[in-house]
Amino acid sequence: MPVQMLTTTIPIDISKSVEGETSRTAPDQVGNVAGATQAELANRLMQHGGRAFMEGPLKKVYAFWLSGMSCDGCSISALGATEPSVEELQTGALPGMPVLVLYHHVLTIEAGDHFTSQIQKAANGELDAPFVIIYEGSIADENLTVDGEPWSAEGAVPLWGNSEERRGVATAEWVRRMAPGAAATIAVGTCATWGGIPASAGNPTGAMSLMDFLGQDYRSAYGLPVINIPGCAPVGDNFTETVAMLLLFLNQQAPLPEFDELGRPAWQFVDTVHRHCPRAGWYEEGTFAKEYGDKECLVEIGCWGPVVNCNITERGATGHVGGCMSAGGVCIGCTMPGFPDKFTPFYKTPPGSRVSSMGARLYGSFVRPLRRISQLERNREPRWRDHVPSGWAMGYDKTTLSHRVLEFFYHRLQYFRSEEPGRQKPVEKFASGYITPAEAAYGSDYNVMLPDEREEVARKRGAPRRRGLTPQAEGFETPVERV
Ligand code: SF4
Ligand code: SF4
Repeated sequence: MPVQMLTTTIPIDISKSVEGETSRTAPDQVGNVAGATQAELANRLMQHGGRAFMEGPLKKVYAFWLSGMSCDGCSISALGATEPSVEELQTGALPGMPVLVLYHHVLTIEAGDHFTSQIQKAANGELDAPFVIIYEGSIADENLTVDGEPWSAEGAVPLWGNSEERRGVATAEWVRRMAPGAAATIAVGTCATWGGIPASAGNPTGAMSLMDFLGQDYRSAYGLPVINIPGCAPVGDNFTETVAMLLLFLNQQAPLPEFDELGRPAWQFVDTVHRHCPRAGWYEEGTFAKEYGDKECLVEIGCWGPVVNCNITERGATGHVGGCMSAGGVCIGCTMPGFPDKFTPFYKTPPGSRVSSMGARLYGSFVRPLRRISQLERNREPRWRDHVPSGWAMGYDKTTLSHRVLEFFYHRLQYFRSEEPGRQKPVEKFASGYITPAEAAYGSDYNVMLPDEREEVARKRGAPRRRGLTPQAEGFETPVERV
């Protein structure tokens, strides 16, 4: 349920101040007619959502979403997540999970200095619960600015001061102040994890990743290095799933999730794009797209999927739908360290893929024709040996001699040391000697005959009959034999 909806349905008592709420002495919130705050909403959720009975020491965890040099794509991606959704995290809807009190410049109820004051409280260690930092975008080297104004800022201080004395606060400065006290520091998206597009060659800002900014000795208050969830933009579910697992960990309801040597959630980045790609079958058969819009494997027009760690082909972009190759795009390695420079020029065949695609071509040229023969045979209905009941269907009369020979050996191999379905020829008898009425009427091949053929058999046996009636209904004498 969107938080905006909740704010209209949950009664908020504006006369009651939230613990440590600095807005008590602050001016009214411009445009916020309810005077409501995010912390107050979280407190109401905890009171009315049965959270008081929840297992674990934590009822809530604050999260501060800070933006550096970003396009906000990570925010959009996270908001599309469904497993779990941001709303589920914010409302503590999942068992064992504390309410996530999210401060995000677009989603939070407060705005302006009322919003910034919460960041300041976190930096000053004045919150009543642990907090995590979620950082989107890369961090610019603020020493490289010429006029003293930050490349990327979040709020201004002093709070509620006059414009002459106020200065913008670089998000880098907030990170520097907040990171030692944070329970966890999460870099979301490739700009925050490796530097990404703002850090590409020739940039004037000295942009870098959160890890590079905090240094190799950085550990959060819970002893964690920076957690990295790369992607440009990342799969939203990768982010919310990791946050959910961290919340369970912080609340002592689950072990620390497993991270790989680059600080990525290990289970999310273990496979390559290629392994789950919807076009992987084309690659395996050595068939490649020549231009955009073709349906085959895209490796020869620039796809890096075989060597890139990303689960979008397995998980989909949003709600299990979409993803780069599904939409016709090549993998440009957006989750990887060094992106974008290490994967340019985009749309040129990656050098290493020439070897493997040549191998796939050779292998495919042998395997493809054989598969087409098997495919043709698998598409033939066994009942249609002599008679095809539709203008569309393929009958056995259309097979060539070579197909029949291959099919003969294929069949032998298929059932080598295995049971064929049904009774084998010469037709096996039931132990009791029972003969089914249909077998008695039409012979042992009755189950691979079409109705017309059965009729012909019945006629030859001297028992002409009409289609659609059972032998019993028509008075056909069924020679049921019992031994
Ligand atoms: S399009 Fe890319 S990821 Fe998909 S099969 Fe081809 S090389 Fe692999
Ligand atoms: S498939 Fe490649 S380009 Fe697409 S999201 Fe994954 S890493 Fe990025």
